[in-house]
Amino acid sequence: MSRILDGKAAALAVRAEVAGRVRALRARGVVPGLAVVLVGDDAASQVYVRNKDRAAAEAGFEVRTLRRPASTSQAELLALIDELNRDLLVHGILVQLPLPKGLVPESVLERLDPAKDVDGLTARNVAALWRGEEGLVPCTPAGCIELLDRNGIAIEGKRVVVIGRSQLVGKPLAALFLARNATVTVAHSRSRDLAAIAREAEILVAAVGRAKLVRASWVRPGATVLDVGINRLEDGRLCGDVDFHEVLPVAGAITPVPGGIGPMTIAMLLANTARAAARRAGLAYDGLDAG
Ligand code: NAP
Repeated sequence: MSRILDGKAAALAVRAEVAGRVRALRARGVVPGLAVVLVGDDAASQVYVRNKDRAAAEAGFEVRTLRRPASTSQAELLALIDELNRDLLVHGILVQLPLPKGLVPESVLERLDPAKDVDGLTARNVAALWRGEEGLVPCTPAGCIELLDRNGIAIEGKRVVVIGRSQLVGKPLAALFLARNATVTVAHSRSRDLAAIAREAEILVAAVGRAKLVRASWVRPGATVLDVGINRLEDGRLCGDVDFHEVLPVAGAITPVPGGIGPMTIAMLLANTARAAARRAGLAYDGLDAG
C-alpha cells in the first residue's frame, strides 16, 4: 500500500512559515505586496485568483487584485504592468493565465520586472534557473520539490521522468531535478513508448493535462508519483493525469488530485513574494525570523 503525499498539510506548513517571515518583514517596516492581474472572465481563473488572494491575505501580504475586461488591449495591459513595475508597494506581480484571445502572453510576461516576477517566467529568471543563479523559480515545479523534501523523499541520484515539457511546469521542473543531481528524462507528445519510459522512473511526474493518462502498468513498483495535472471530468469532478486508484497499490508514494500539487503551488507563490520583498529590502529570506 502506498503513501499518499498530503499536499494540503505540507502547503499549510509552508504558509505558516511564510506568515512568520512576513511578520518579520513587517517588523522591519517592509509590508510585502502582491498584485494579481486577472484579464477576462475565465471561470477557473476566477476561482484560482480568489484562492490565491485569500491565502496571501491570510499570510499577511497586502493583496491588490486588478481585474480588467477581456476587451483589454495588449498596449493597455503592458501599461498596467509598467505601472506595477514602478510601484514600490508591490513586490510580486502575478498575471493569471490563460489570457483572453488576442493578447500575447509571452510579451506580457516578459514585460515584468524580473525581481517581481513571482511566477519565474521571464527570460532572466529562466536563465538563472538553468545557470544555478539566484532568481525566482516557477511555483508549481518549486512546489513539487518542496513536497518531496518535506516527505523525506531523496532526489539525488534518482531516475526521474517528467512527462510534459511546458515552460510553466515540465521544463523548469527538469532543471530543478537536475540541480538536485537526479538523472532526468523529459517526455512529451512525440515521445515513443511513453509507458516504457515512465516505467524507468523512480520519481515519475505527470504534467500533461490528460485525465488518467498514467496507468498502473506505466509505474515501476515503489516509485514516487507526482500528479500535476488538473482535468475536469464530465461529471464536474477534478481528476489528475494519473489513474489514482489503479496506480495507488503500485506506487511507493503518490499525490492526490485535488489536495496534492495544487495547494503547494499557492504556497510557493507566497514564498516567492516574501522572498522578493526580502531581497528588495536587502535581507536574506532564509535568515528572517520565521517565528
Ligand atoms: P501544457 O502547456 O499544455 O503542456 C502539456 C505538455 O504535455 C506538453 O509538453 C505536451 O507535449 C505534453 N503532452 C500532451 N499530450 C501528451 C500525451 N498524450 N503524451 C505525452 N505528453 C503529452 O500544460 P501545462 O501548463 O504544463 O499543464 C499541464 C497540466 O498541469 C494541466 O492539466 C494543468 O492544468 C496542470 N497544472 C496544474 C498546476 C497545479 O497547480 N497543480 C499548475 C500548472 C498546471 P508537447 O510539448 O509535445 O505538445
